Amino acid sequence: MNVNEYIASVLETVKKRNPGEAEFHQAVEEVLETLKPVIEAHPEFQAAGLIERLVEPERIIKFRVPWVDDNGKVQVNRGYRIQFNDAIGPYKGGIRFRGNVTESVIKFLGFEQIFKNSLTGLPIGGGKGGSDFDPKGKSDAEVMRFCQSFMTELHKYIGADVDVPAGDIGVGGREIGFMFGQYKRLTNLYEGVLTGKGLTYGGSLARTEATGFGLCYFTDEMLKANGKSFKDQTVVISGSGNVAIYAAVKATALGGKVVAMSDSNGYVYDKNGIDIAAVKQIKEVNRGRIKDYLADHPDAVYGDNCSDIWGVKCDIALPCATQNEIDEASAKKLIANGCYCVSEGANMPSTPEAIAALQGAGVLFGPAKAANAGGVATSALEMSQNSMRYSWTFEEVDEKLHGIMVNIFKNCESAAAKYGMPGNYAAGANIAGFLKVANAMMAQGIV
Ligand code: NDP
Repeated sequence: MNVNEYIASVLETVKKRNPGEAEFHQAVEEVLETLKPVIEAHPEFQAAGLIERLVEPERIIKFRVPWVDDNGKVQVNRGYRIQFNDAIGPYKGGIRFRGNVTESVIKFLGFEQIFKNSLTGLPIGGGKGGSDFDPKGKSDAEVMRFCQSFMTELHKYIGADVDVPAGDIGVGGREIGFMFGQYKRLTNLYEGVLTGKGLTYGGSLARTEATGFGLCYFTDEMLKANGKSFKDQTVVISGSGNVAIYAAVKATALGGKVVAMSDSNGYVYDKNGIDIAAVKQIKEVNRGRIKDYLADHPDAVYGDNCSDIWGVKCDIALPCATQNEIDEASAKKLIANGCYCVSEGANMPSTPEAIAALQGAGVLFGPAKAANAGGVATSALEMSQNSMRYSWTFEEVDEKLHGIMVNIFKNCESAAAKYGMPGNYAAGANIAGFLKVANAMMAQGIV
């Protein structure tokens, strides 16, 4: 079977075996298409059924999460943990709480996590979890009861050397704290089983900032390699959660001017540059809406369709909200307005058609697996600190994060060039991430 036939047959099996899971199909197809030259160069991978094994999660855990709301009514959600691949280290990847979470969403995220974690250069395998529970609009007591119920089941499958979850959409410091408390109570173990913990109980300095900062470090490297920088550039950032806020902080520190941010209801445009302290207050402290920004910023304007943010003229766009938020039409708007760099803070924020349009127009494209790997890299640094019973300073962690992101960029750049796709950092990320995992899998036999 030639490589095209081999990949087509694996994709067909994935679609048959995971019917209706569009996000998962999309993620697998994107990776496998770019791996063709590598698979061609390594016939032993095909002989060992390596790709067939790579696309099948090692374990899917799916469970009931019952809890009682503030009105005394019983609610039932569904929980997931997908332990995708532990060839290079214990499973690691976030937990997402959001109404639209399905097995397909967790599977796509877990699959991408394998390559992202490999790219960090640290010993962590790929996994992901979550629930269709939405913390938005729930009281702290409801969120606590939900998290305790979720962990009551999840604790059976995780551990500091087994599987170490972290945050993601809808899971921040509050949720991690509730889950850690319950894990400890159930297991009688005080161990680094979760990352993104509070600083008083084992968290790492700079973890909160890491994904957003790392995104800008990666993007800065990509810009520099192409004779550009953030300085005096107009930047648009979607979302206003953890990743978006710290991307805005770092993009500004590097000389950019962030003019628009959003949430799932709409976006704000501020020609004076977004007041990031105000966004932090609204989203981190008040748990409010981005629209609240207008109250103290008379020059700002609000649009009530979040995807219209891609019509705001910018040089650099950093999608930091959710999957498939940039479709082909949005990509074309960005291109028409002169945007020359799109770098992904969110996971899979661009559809395949959008990526093709952006790359076709010569837009510098920083793929999520590489560009947002700073979060999980710093989570791995949190694991190291927990094991050592030691804490590094903010500056020490930030410096390590910076070094990791520079290396990731270099590896993507050189892998893309080596396999005949210079400047295609998406292909470079997939190839560099894949090769380490593939070599580990080959060494470990048919498992
Ligand atoms: P948060 O929950 O902190 O923030 C998510 C933000 O995205 C919120 O502002 C939310 O708005 C907005 N949002 C959600 N859905 C949509 C939508 N359909 N359209 C527009 N805005 C939307 O999550 P994070 O910042 O942690 O995660 C954001 C992305 O980054 C995700 O794709 C995640 O997987 C990825 N990521 C996160 C990492 C981390 O360390 N946290 C690491 C690597 C990747 P609203 O308030 O309306 O819900």
